[in-house]
Amino acid sequence: NAKNSGKNQFQFYIESLNIVATERFSLERDLARAIDRDEFVLYFQPQIDLATRKIVGAEALIRWMHPQKGMVPPDKFIHVAEESGLIIEINKWVLLKACSQSNEWVKDGFPALSIAVNLSGYKFAHQNIVESIRDVLQVTRLDPGNIEVEITETILMQETEETIETLKQIKDLGVRIALDDFGTGYSSLSYLTTFPVDVIKIDRSFVIGSTMHKNNRIIIKAIIAMGHSLGKKILAEGIETEEQFELLKEYGCDEAQGYYFKAPVPATEFTRLLKKGAL
Ligand code: C2E
Ligand code: MG
Ligand code: MG
Ligand code: MG
Repeated sequence: NAKNSGKNQFQFYIESLNIVATERFSLERDLARAIDRDEFVLYFQPQIDLATRKIVGAEALIRWMHPQKGMVPPDKFIHVAEESGLIIEINKWVLLKACSQSNEWVKDGFPALSIAVNLSGYKFAHQNIVESIRDVLQVTRLDPGNIEVEITETILMQETEETIETLKQIKDLGVRIALDDFGTGYSSLSYLTTFPVDVIKIDRSFVIGSTMHKNNRIIIKAIIAMGHSLGKKILAEGIETEEQFELLKEYGCDEAQGYYFKAPVPATEFTRLLKKGAL
């Protein structure tokens, strides 16, 4: 009867809540051990100069090699790391790994690359990020001009004063700042003059539809024109086809990333790409 089935549903609900909570707990517990157990790996995706097709940089993207679950993508665990505070340690690990790898490539005689590191926006101004970057630069002796930090518009929406101060300090170290996923947040235009950003990364969602939908092309053109007049470098994310590549080149976009050139790869494979030089 109705009363019983209501009770069953309720029980079912409680049980599924338990499953969710248990999974979440085990994920958090595993994540806390992941650095010590050396389970994180950095992949690198080439950043291409559109005019020459040369590799001019790389974005470092984290992967978690979970002993039972296999490879866990960042979208599955970064938010858990943020909520539990583990993100601070993870950011430090990524910075150290990316800079060490960049140093290896410099030592191997490859032309200096710009390595982009994603910094999570969670409590951005309270992560001691400036200190972390300074420490890593000191330990690796890497030229600060070889690193770029990527932040998102969500960071800029919270605690504006503290964030501007943090970004200024990062720039004072000689490190460049890129604004990731540009165009997906709010009031993007005013951010460009308020915050000390060097690079604008046009979000993949505009690029995907660019060869089909006129509106996306209009937005892309506008971002490039505006960015250039403000003296910023423009990089398009998520280029997947020849058509998109040609279009972005025609519009005067400076650089691009995407599966059309190469998906993110482990460092050893990236070294092989560097030997080729262009894609
Ligand atoms: P993101 O920084 O915007 O990185 C771009 C994402 O798009 C990457 O996914 C990349 O693999 C993917 N991508 C690149 N080219 C293409 C393409 O042509 N088509 C499509 N469909 N996708 C493409 P990934 O590696 O899964 O990273 C997802 C997000 O997780 C990143 O977005 C970034 O926000 C975050 N993330 C990645 N690594 C780190 C990290 O080390 N630290 C932090 N805090 N966040 C990270
Ligand atoms: Mg990024
Ligand atoms: Mg992005
Ligand atoms: Mg993103």
